[in-house]
Amino acid sequence: MVVGGGSAGVAAAVGAARAGCRTRLIEKYAFLGGAATASSVSIYCGFFDQNRRRVVDGVGGSVLRRLQERGVYREGSFSWSGNTFVLLDTETTKTVLDEETHAAGVDIRLHSTVVGASRERGWLREIEVSDAAGRHRVAARAFVDASGDGALCALAGAGVRVAPAGERQTSTLASRYGGVVPGADLSREGVRVAVNAYNRHSGRSLPHTQGVLARLPVTGEVLALLADEHVDTLDAAALTGAEINGRRKARAYLDAFRAYLSGWENAYLLCTGPQLGIREARRLRAREEVRGADVLAARKRPDESIARCGWPVEDRRVPGVARYVPIEGKGWYDIPYGAICSDDLDNLWAAGRLTGSDDDAFASLRVMGTAFATGHAAGVAAALYARGAKHDRALIRAELLRQGALL
Ligand SMILES: Cc1cc2nc3c(=O)[nH]c(=O)nc-3n(C[C@H](O)[C@H](O)[C@H](O)COP(=O)(O)OP(=O)(O)OC[C@H]3O[C@@H](n4cnc5c(N)ncnc54)[C@H](O)[C@@H]3O)c2cc1C
Repeated sequence: MVVGGGSAGVAAAVGAARAGCRTRLIEKYAFLGGAATASSVSIYCGFFDQNRRRVVDGVGGSVLRRLQERGVYREGSFSWSGNTFVLLDTETTKTVLDEETHAAGVDIRLHSTVVGASRERGWLREIEVSDAAGRHRVAARAFVDASGDGALCALAGAGVRVAPAGERQTSTLASRYGGVVPGADLSREGVRVAVNAYNRHSGRSLPHTQGVLARLPVTGEVLALLADEHVDTLDAAALTGAEINGRRKARAYLDAFRAYLSGWENAYLLCTGPQLGIREARRLRAREEVRGADVLAARKRPDESIARCGWPVEDRRVPGVARYVPIEGKGWYDIPYGAICSDDLDNLWAAGRLTGSDDDAFASLRVMGTAFATGHAAGVAAALYARGAKHDRALIRAELLRQGALL
């Protein structure tokens, strides 16, 4: 049973199904993709290290190949850092994830939200799912929480880490703009000058940030990730305020860019969100934690590794500021098996941005390429467990390698 259909959940479900298990994937929205589609975070980071070497394959690699087959695969990289990423078209991404899960035989339930869980001693027994027909209880032998926010862990009473709201990675409402002519200014300096001019003339105080403006494939629309803020993402009232405030800012940025940024004169707002982009909520209290020191030292763990991460520390705890710290040699580090295992429920794994980590390691491994890798491992581990091989690292690694993962 996999809860959440983002990068980690898709990889977990496909990995489990390919390992021979009957697998169900529960997703609260009408489509898969998680932040990539539901929050317009249309940039897969973490498939490459800063030397531009591939560090993630397996299910994630298969998703990239499907984008290539559809002719919408577009890589980009920052020359100053070597960070390499893949730009996404939202609708193609939804379709490709449908195809990937369908081909593996995953039983998908969209419009379905996990609202309860029951445990018995050190085991998770069943979950409660709410959908249009009502509430249902569903039992399984093994569970993966890939909900990003740690919904299943919290409902099951499994240990989680939650930083105080003001110390978490910030949240950002992404917005997408159309009508931005080819060659229009998308530079940070351009944004800074335009926002300052707008603030001077309007008397407002729109923040100018170290955010991103990126041109997306297929539609040519421009993605903006600009207005970071601290939000208690586990509080519905605070989330409501942040969504409304984010939409107001998306319109103010449009006004600023139309007036003061070259090529934006006829731009319009295509879409916000749909939901606030949440970088951090809960994290798993895991059997083992990835630490910032492991990240910076590019620590290798030959027998324990279930995934690689090549994305540097990208710390966004201060609104509008991105603090990057490279991995030694601009390479990658190994994520150990214990980081995806719940420390108190034997048949529960968590992956993606729930992976057990301290604050600095979290700022690195939370990206979506790495979420595909940790999710893939969690799905394979859960499938082998359900079939009787409990926490056998050698078998899990062998199955991941058989499925094309890079270890
Ligand atoms: C503003 C912002 C910018 C970012 N920029 C980048 C970037 O450029 N590149 C990059 O790679 N990463 C980026 N990240 C980080 C990345 O998006 C996340 O860390 C990543 O999406 C985590 O993947 P996930 O699968 O763990 O969770 P998510 O993508 O959050 O997916 C979780 C899924 O679980 C579902 N779900 C939640 N609760 C339930 C429930 N109770 N029942 C059923 N389903 C449920 C959700 O609907 C969602 O589909 C950014 C994040 C933010 C917020």
